[in-house]
Formats: sequence, C-alpha cells, structure tokens
Amino acid sequence: MLPFSPGRLLQPEPVMDASDSFPCSCWNKKTDLSSVTTVHVQENGVIFCDLEGLPLFQKSFRFLSKSFWEFDDDMSPEDTLRFPVVPRVLGDIAVRVTFQSPACRDTLVEKLQQYCPPDKRDLAIATTIHILECGVAKRLPNHDHLHEIIDSTLTELAFSPASSILAPIYDWKVTHDDLELHRIRTQVKDFFLSNPPPIVVLVESNESLPRTEINVSNAMAPLPFCAALLPHTPTWPLTTIPPPRDEWLQSILNNYGVHQRHRDGNPNSKTIFLSMELYRWYIAALTAAQNSPSPEATHSLLAATASIKATVIHETGHFWVAHEPTGDSPAHASAKDADIAQFDVAENDDMEPDMIEAGNLIDTVWLGGPHRLVISSSE
Ligand SMILES: [Zn+2]
Repeated sequence: MLPFSPGRLLQPEPVMDASDSFPCSCWNKKTDLSSVTTVHVQENGVIFCDLEGLPLFQKSFRFLSKSFWEFDDDMSPEDTLRFPVVPRVLGDIAVRVTFQSPACRDTLVEKLQQYCPPDKRDLAIATTIHILECGVAKRLPNHDHLHEIIDSTLTELAFSPASSILAPIYDWKVTHDDLELHRIRTQVKDFFLSNPPPIVVLVESNESLPRTEINVSNAMAPLPFCAALLPHTPTWPLTTIPPPRDEWLQSILNNYGVHQRHRDGNPNSKTIFLSMELYRWYIAALTAAQNSPSPEATHSLLAATASIKATVIHETGHFWVAHEPTGDSPAHASAKDADIAQFDVAENDDMEPDMIEAGNLIDTVWLGGPHRLVISSSE
C-alpha cells in the first residue's frame, strides 16, 4: 500500500481550532492510512490526525457535498462510518473509520450535523493549478495568488448569480427571461456539484500542446517567475521615470487561453490552459502594486486580475461543452436566435466555420466581445 500524500484540496489547516477529537482507526483499499489514530471535528472540516496529534489530511466542509458521510450498508458493525469520495474534490479519497464504540461514532455524527448543517454551508469550488514543463504538469505552490483568483471565479460561477454568464451556451440562446435564468443557475450549480472542476495548466502560448493526456504531477514546479523572465517592472507613476522598455508598450496579449476542443479528439478537453505570458503580466502588475499604492498600479492589478477571470470563464465555457453528450457546440444554423448578430460574431471561422465558438459566444453576450489586456505607459 502506498503512503497517503494529500493533494492541495485535502491539506489540513496549519492551525487547528478547539475541536472535538475521537480515537479511531482508518482504512482505505489503495492507501496506507494506518497512521491515522484520531479524527477531529471542527468548524471548517474533519481532520485526520496521527498519534502525535499532527494533522495528516482534512475534508473541508466548504468542498463537500450535502451528505458526505455514510453508515455502512448493513449498519454493522455499529462503530464505523464511511467518508466516500466526493467527485468534485480533486484527489479526494474514501475513508472508512472505526471508532472505539458505537456511542463514539454517534457523538461524532452529532458534531458533524452541528458544525455543518447543509443549509448553512458556504460551498466553494477549488481546483489545482499546474505549470507545464516538458509534458509534465507540475503543481503551482499553494500560496500563489492565482489560486485565490481562479477558485473565487469558479465558486462565483457555480453558486452566485454570475452563473447566468454561462446561459448562452446552456441552450444556445442569447436572451433569457427570469424563469429561464433561474433554471439555468440551478443546472450550473448541479453541474459543479457533481463534476470535478477543470484542472488549470499554465502553458507558454507559443508551445504546442501535447496530443496525449498530460501527466499531472503533485510535485511542485520551481517558481519560474524570477525577474529575469519578466520585462522591467514599471514604477508608478511612470511620468517620474524614464519610459519603460519596448516590451511594455508593444505587448498586447490576445491569446490568454488555449482552446482544446472535444472534437479535436484530444484527452485534455477538460483541462483549462492559461497563457503563461498572462500570468507573468499579472505577477508584474502585482509586484508593482505591492511596491506602490498608486491608483495606476492598483488599476493595472485589477485589469490583470479581470483578464485572468474573464479567460477562466471563457475556457470554462469550453469545459462545460466538453461535458455535453455531443462534446461539442452546435452548428450555427441549428441554434435558436441564430438570426441575432452575436452568433455571427461568435463564429469560429478558422477551423470549423459552421460551429459556434462557445467561449467567444460567452464573451460576446457578456462583455460585447473578446477582451484584450493592453500594456500601456500612458495611464
Ligand atoms: Zn474559445
């Protein structure tokens, strides 16, 4: 059996709050959980600890579906409890817990119901982010700001009224009444609750994507964003210093995400690819904002953050379509509202002139068209 190494979404909080603890033993078919000797229940989740009291992994309430624990089918023995795999938590594992007595188990269940009543639970979507290096997608360190941006974007798409942004690719219409939007929001929420989120991979825009399934590794990628890889970071306000290098003035990114369609026959159609260049510009804007609280620096950071969010939403559109039974968007001619101008704008006339480009349709209905992050020294 392999020793268990929790991924990002199962890593425990660095500090545990005052919690209820229950001695137990744990079992899993594939992994060695023999070092787990105690389960703690606290406000934000269930934590599995070793003999020393050190947290080994955690099942966070924010990532868990409504019912995430089960009794054994035959209710016997009465001192056990199962935590099955939750599909939308990447890297989640099933755990069977045996307590010292049935009373012990029942007390833990009471605590679970007390700490996380389903109607009060503040659900979140979170994913893992990787950097593609020589065909292997290595994990971005947990503390990176990009996690916060992407996780919050996916969470808002899943559980807030922002889910209506995806409405055009739900039924391939560009206008919806309130009743339709309500139904679509429910469908979007159910989709995110029952499917794993897209894995995000940062890739150089000029790099060819592998045609075979990307090997996703838990190993950390070395941070590639050292100063040497960035253009000179501007200092704000720019009027007080010499003009920045040409790279700042000439670079207009227009390929923030890389499309991988299901029809392309590739195995990575449920992965979101983001431009490494976009990420570098974001890091440059973040560095500038951390060095200076000027409005210009703040606006640059907001623009870079918005560009990442809009790109994630565009690519989530393709992710959604890849889950459809056909795995593809429909032909332009068969779409409802096909006589509306937005469909013409949204057509992808490069590869498949008759097919609707799902991400572009979202951009067009939501923002009026694809966005661009313009690098400028004038404001
Ligand atoms: Zn697209």
